[in-house]
Order: sequence, then C-alpha cells, then structure tokens
Amino acid sequence: MRCPKCQGLMYSEMFCDFIRIFIGWKCLNCGEVLDPVIVSNRRKSNSIQTAL
Ligand SMILES: [Zn+2]
Repeated sequence: MRCPKCQGLMYSEMFCDFIRIFIGWKCLNCGEVLDPVIVSNRRKSNSIQTAL
C-alpha cells in the first residue's frame, strides 16, 4: 500500500468516528489517512476516469 500523495509507506490503523470503527490506512510520511469507504469511492471514480 503506497500513499497516493507522496508514495510513502502506509500502515493500517484502527480509527473510529461517531458511528463506526474501521480499519484505515495512514501514511508514515505525510499523515494522509485513507479509510475503506474513501478507497472504494476513489476506485469507482478512477474507473470512470480510466480514459485519462
Ligand atoms: Zn503520504
């Protein structure tokens, strides 16, 4: 897993917001956080943008 911003190494970490607990990814380099919902949303939008 590589950070989409800086290509740094990411590690999985447990996060919680008001309604759920989830495993997300955090970048060691820049602190970027990806949660699974964001990742799947980006995959969807990426699949739309594959023409690029
Ligand atoms: Zn990063």
